[in-house]
Amino acid sequence: MTSIKNKIDKLRKKILRYEYFYHQLDKSIISDAEYDYLLDQLYNLELDNKEFITPDSPTQRVGSNLTNKFKKITHFFPMLSLDNTFTLKGYLEFEKRIKKSFNNILISLCCELKIDGIAISIIYEKGIFVRAATRGDGYQGENITSNARMIKSIPLKLTGLDIPKRLEVRGEVFMLKSDFLTLNKQCKIKNNKSFSNPRNAAAGSLRHIDPTITAERKLMFFCHGCYFFSKKIKFTTHYEQLIQCHTWGLPVNQDMINCLQYEEVFHFYKEFEQKRHLLDFDIDGIVVKVNSIDFQNKLGVHTKAPRWAIAFKFFSSERITRLNDVKFQVGRTGIITPVAYFEPVYISGVTIKQASLHNKSEIERLDLHINDHVVICRSGDVIPKLLSVVSDYREKNATKIIFPTLCPVCHTKLLENKEEKIIRCHAGLTCDPQKRKSLCHFFSKKALNVRSLGPKIINSLIKKGYVNNPIDFFYLTSNDLINLRNIGDKKSIEVIDSINQCKKTTFKRFIYALGISNVGEIASEKIANYFITLDQLLNTNISELKNIHGVGKIVATNILNYLSITCNREMVIKLVKKIGIFWNDTRFLIKSYKKTYFFDKRIVLTGVFTFYSRIELKKILTNLGAKVFSTICKNTDILIYGKKFGSKFFKAKSLNIKLISEKELISLI
Ligand SMILES: [Zn+2]
Repeated sequence: MTSIKNKIDKLRKKILRYEYFYHQLDKSIISDAEYDYLLDQLYNLELDNKEFITPDSPTQRVGSNLTNKFKKITHFFPMLSLDNTFTLKGYLEFEKRIKKSFNNILISLCCELKIDGIAISIIYEKGIFVRAATRGDGYQGENITSNARMIKSIPLKLTGLDIPKRLEVRGEVFMLKSDFLTLNKQCKIKNNKSFSNPRNAAAGSLRHIDPTITAERKLMFFCHGCYFFSKKIKFTTHYEQLIQCHTWGLPVNQDMINCLQYEEVFHFYKEFEQKRHLLDFDIDGIVVKVNSIDFQNKLGVHTKAPRWAIAFKFFSSERITRLNDVKFQVGRTGIITPVAYFEPVYISGVTIKQASLHNKSEIERLDLHINDHVVICRSGDVIPKLLSVVSDYREKNATKIIFPTLCPVCHTKLLENKEEKIIRCHAGLTCDPQKRKSLCHFFSKKALNVRSLGPKIINSLIKKGYVNNPIDFFYLTSNDLINLRNIGDKKSIEVIDSINQCKKTTFKRFIYALGISNVGEIASEKIANYFITLDQLLNTNISELKNIHGVGKIVATNILNYLSITCNREMVIKLVKKIGIFWNDTRFLIKSYKKTYFFDKRIVLTGVFTFYSRIELKKILTNLGAKVFSTICKNTDILIYGKKFGSKFFKAKSLNIKLISEKELISLI
């Protein structure tokens, strides 16, 4: 046995020495035939004596059936990524740099489509497929030999003349968009998790633990480059190499051209930017390579990428798909939002099947019909947007979309606010979706913050008829909660406790919790700071509201409208006076009048204040019992000054009036 082990060790050392000279020192110390002979011997010995296989054996790196699943293997030539640009300017800089290296002569460039797939490397020995690996970190990838073998478009045997002894093929494994959609449909039927995009599906299928699954998944392959191990094989250009690969039976995408001018490159880029949605596979740009192999070698590589190639990527993508339906959703505040549902499309890494249409005028602008072909994009590359309708393709069975006149849920007549371009169901808490969303909002994190009351529990409580408005929650018992599904004793007590605890809150949170249209966190804070007590808010008017810094006409009107509805008003009062919701914002803790520092003082303000607006300060001081005046006179008690104060400051100083800075003021209130 030891003699076999010795034999194996000796062979390995020889082969590794050869490889070291070949790859590191660029020297051939034995002929290719001798190398092959040594490697064959090692293969055979290891096959018969599997216990002697070690991960560092050369056979592990050239790949064989002996290798473990997805074991790391080292690439013969590093698989580098490409530099990329999204702009013509970025591309021109690349071209300029290249030309400068060769005294500004005309350089032939090869343009190919940049397929959005998984880069792999395949080794052919004497024309036979022997190993495949993923890119990995560029130096070491995963052995995917048995999976790649299952991809029908990858030939297991090359055909034709002059097949090299060893050849490395580089290319992209991908899934057709149509196959991707079919696969996801099947996943849905089988209740399996679906894939978010073709690239993701291709990656999952290629690295599947079971190669027969890889076979079923209909993966495709396009070759986009190759390396020859023997120095004797010489091709002048990258283009010729690809044509040769094609002749040997490797699939090469035919959409490639040779260019001399940037105009031609840009034309190719523009052409496929427009055509990309018509292709059945995803591309995310084009790849431009210096055609001459000699020039490629002279340009070499920098740390991460070759200097002779660039990925010229498409900026944003649009897809055409078919509109299946438009549904009208009722929001928390009753706003009706049309939502378009279409055949799923895959854009910049995500599957999209719906997009908001915002309002009625958007539907009119688009002249939208069901079954229309529509252009979808992701605006800012994030939010799905229905851009336009391809009206030339309008189908005979297309039906025009009509905005409803009644609420799709509670059938209340909808009212239109032309100024805000909003159509609303005013049924409030009697309209089911509004009730659901309002109650969730009332107890949400930024409102009364009852964490244990999630949408699931709230929905079940509504279904059981236990709650119709926020007040009902405070009368719930733990028995009510136990009646719901999936809630035990412990959880029910926890929920009741946290509902009781949320009574102590802030005025800002309380206002926000009411969910009045357009009254978000910031507006709630401004209003809370201004009014301090609920009674003041209940008795306000439009001009006072509009006076608050940061509160506009729309917010002011919405607050008044909300409070003018009797049931809202009664609910708000009941929540505070009967249920006992209270706030104790220390910044505005109002001491009883006679004890405050400012009680009965005559005060004037000057300058710009950082923490409060002037109106807010006036209100706070008035609440503390002070009288605020606009001009300084002998009777003035205090001047409160902010930054950039004016002549009032000096006048007060000359009259020996007490001066208080904003900082001091804060410590006093
Ligand atoms: Zn409704």
